[in-house]
Amino acid sequence: MIWNRERETLSDSKKEAIQGELLKNQIKRVYGSIPFYKEKIDSSGLTPEMIMSIFDIKKLPFTTKDDLRDNYPFGMFAVSTDKIVEIHTSSGTTGKPVVGGYTKKDIEIWSEVMARCLAFSGTTENDVVQNAYGYGLFTGGLGVHYGARRIGANVIPISGGNTKRQLMVMQDFKSTIITCTPSYSLYLAEVGEEMGIDFKSLPLKAGNFGAEPWSNNIRKEIENRLGLLALDIYGLTEIIGPGVGNECRYKCGVHICDDHFYPEIIDPDTGEVLPPGEVGELVITTLTREATPLLRYRTRDITKLIPGRCQCGRTSVRIERIMGRTDDMLIIRGVNVFPTQIEEVLVNIKGIEPHYQIIVERTGTLDQLEVQVEMNENLISDEIRRLEILESSIRSEIESLLGIKVKVKLVEPKTIARSEGKAKRVIDKRNI
Ligand code: ADP
Ligand code: ZN
Repeated sequence: MIWNRERETLSDSKKEAIQGELLKNQIKRVYGSIPFYKEKIDSSGLTPEMIMSIFDIKKLPFTTKDDLRDNYPFGMFAVSTDKIVEIHTSSGTTGKPVVGGYTKKDIEIWSEVMARCLAFSGTTENDVVQNAYGYGLFTGGLGVHYGARRIGANVIPISGGNTKRQLMVMQDFKSTIITCTPSYSLYLAEVGEEMGIDFKSLPLKAGNFGAEPWSNNIRKEIENRLGLLALDIYGLTEIIGPGVGNECRYKCGVHICDDHFYPEIIDPDTGEVLPPGEVGELVITTLTREATPLLRYRTRDITKLIPGRCQCGRTSVRIERIMGRTDDMLIIRGVNVFPTQIEEVLVNIKGIEPHYQIIVERTGTLDQLEVQVEMNENLISDEIRRLEILESSIRSEIESLLGIKVKVKLVEPKTIARSEGKAKRVIDKRNI
């Protein structure tokens, strides 16, 4: 189901015209109201009038996470405090959290784009949305909440954690849609299976999973164990929170709500704009955000634009699921490694669970990568020899994919910490 058919199926020319108008207004607003941007635009030799269409966006300077941190907490606000109705911060996964402000209109926009995202997974007013994203300063909980409200679904604001209660509510309130991080959904599956719950007999039909990178193989695992359709939802506090984009049921990339958020891909080293199909850093300009508008924000998320049209009928630009963040990319002896690449390998191997952690250490000048992965219950009693064979076969699969040497260690079931929110996959002990 397409939530806003008119806006989600615009022709290219109509969309470009709308984006151009919005961008022109946005530039004038940020120039007139945020000293940081006035200075930046002035010093790049531009005037707001020089931005005449969406194609002029390339002339604008970038905004970085450090710019936001330097202007913490309210230096990037474009409106006075009486216009602010809500404030959120990012989770702080990579350092000091950044702040997003919302006017009434921003909350309207958020509700609209989140309604679109929930509609991707088939949510209607007849659905019961169990919202297991954290409520609070984190955008996940309230963002999904506003979207579900907009649709008129019955939203259960259970927030993250308290897994047994989640499972009780899921059964008793007959949840049809679940929203949480992909790693938490697997934890729900694990605890539910232990309690003897048959997920396939529950009315659960779909889930919007996001806030952290996950692979296609993990998707299959979630779909099989929970008996639902698992779709990827993407967003970040700086732009709006969840609701920047979502996969449709064709699962061929995340549709970006590009009448609100304009995406570009750049080479993270040179800043050069890359064409569709080439992998780089996602940059987003907010076209409509009032309180904390951002020009060409460097998300540090790595992906690519997908060329061509999607079968679902939407004309919005699609991005490949996020491979990881530039911050998460490990450079091991000159080779770029994302945790999701290792995950893709692990999930296909029998005898292990999809719970893993990557430990990076440095001995002398050499980086050593160790993958710790849980064996499943059936394997514990196996002879050491068989476990060693399994370890070495995992090792050779990873090595042939990455082209570097790694260590693999099977660990006892349930020894790797479970997360209720974003999973921590990498422990970097290198002190660099
Ligand atoms: P933080 O950067 O502190 O984690 P947020 O809580 O705002 O801040 O989370 C936004 C970030 O989470 C994104 O920039 C991205 O790195 C990650 N993220 C969100 N959704 C997804 C997704 N579907 N796939 C991969 N990563 C995601
Ligand atoms: Zn589609």
